[in-house]
Amino acid sequence: RRREAVRAWRAPGRTADGTEVQLLANVQDGATARKAVEGQADGVGLFRTELCFLSAQTEPSVDEQARIYGEVFAAFPGRKVVVRTLDAGSDKPVPFANHEDENNPALGVRGIRLNWTNPGLLDRQLDAIAEAARQAGVATPWVMAPMVATIDEAYEFAGACRGRGLKPGIMVEVPSVAVMADEFIAEVDFFSIGTNDLTQYVMAADRLSSPLAALTTPWQPAVLRMVSMAAEAGRRAGKPVGVCGEAAADPLLACVLAGLGITSLSMAEAAIPAVGVQLASVTMDRCRDAARQVLAARNAPDAKRLAASLLTASR
Ligand code: PEP
Ligand code: MG
Repeated sequence: RRREAVRAWRAPGRTADGTEVQLLANVQDGATARKAVEGQADGVGLFRTELCFLSAQTEPSVDEQARIYGEVFAAFPGRKVVVRTLDAGSDKPVPFANHEDENNPALGVRGIRLNWTNPGLLDRQLDAIAEAARQAGVATPWVMAPMVATIDEAYEFAGACRGRGLKPGIMVEVPSVAVMADEFIAEVDFFSIGTNDLTQYVMAADRLSSPLAALTTPWQPAVLRMVSMAAEAGRRAGKPVGVCGEAAADPLLACVLAGLGITSLSMAEAAIPAVGVQLASVTMDRCRDAARQVLAARNAPDAKRLAASLLTASR
C-alpha cells in the first residue's frame, strides 16, 4: 500500500493539515535537472556546480560556465533554483582549483576558501551565474556559498551577490555558523543546512568512514540541536532555512526537520515522493511535538526510535 502511495504522490509537499514544505531536488547538471523536473521536484534546492568540473584541467570561461548553469535554469522555468558556488576540495577535488597537497583536506582549502588561493575565481563564477540567469529570464537567482565559517565571509559574499542582482545565502555546515546563527542570518537572505558536513564537523568524524557511521548519522541529537539553532534564527529574522544534506531524504527525519522550523528540503530526486507521503500523513503539530522530544534524546538510536513511534503510530 505504501509503495502504491509513493507512486501516486504529487507535489507540492505539505503536512496533513496543509502546511507547505518545499520538496526540492539536488542536481549536478542539465541532465539531472531535466530528470528532476520529470519527477515531483518543486525546484532545485542544491545545484552542486563543482560536480560539473571534476575533470576540468583549466577554469572554464565565464561564457562556458554560463552555458552550463543556464541548462539548469532552463529546466525549471519560473521555479526556485539554488546554485551553490564551487565546493571543490576534500572529497570533490577539481583540477583547476585545488592545487595544495593537504594533510587534512576536509579541514583545508575548500568551498569558499578556494578564493584565497584562486583570486577572482568566485567573482568569475558569480558573473557566469548572473549571465545565465539573465539569459534564462530568472529575476533573482538564489546563490549560496559552501563552507562559510566567519561573518566576514558571509558579509563579503552577500555584497558580491547583491552587486550582481543575485539573492545571497550561505550553507550552514561549519558549526561556527550555527553557534552564531543570528549574526550570520543578518548578513544574508537564506540559510541552507548541509547536514552531511555539519555532522562531520560537529561529531569530528569523517563522513566517508564506514567504521564511524554510528557517529556520522544526522540523528545525532547534537546535530539536530544545531539545526534547531539555525532554524530558530531564521524564524526570528523572517528568512527561509532549508536542509540540503542526506537528512532531508529520510522520511521520518524530514518530518522532524519540518517540526524544527525548516521550510524546504532538498534531496536526490528519487527520494522526494517517499518524503512527500510521510509528511502528508502527519500534522505540523505532530512534527513539532516529535521535534521537541527528539531534541531531548540522549543518543542517535533513541532519537530515531522516538521519531518512529511519534510519527508513525496512528492517532
Ligand atoms: C552537505 O554537506 O550536507 C551538503 C549538502 O553538501 P555536500 O554533500 O555537497 O558537501
Ligand atoms: Mg557540504
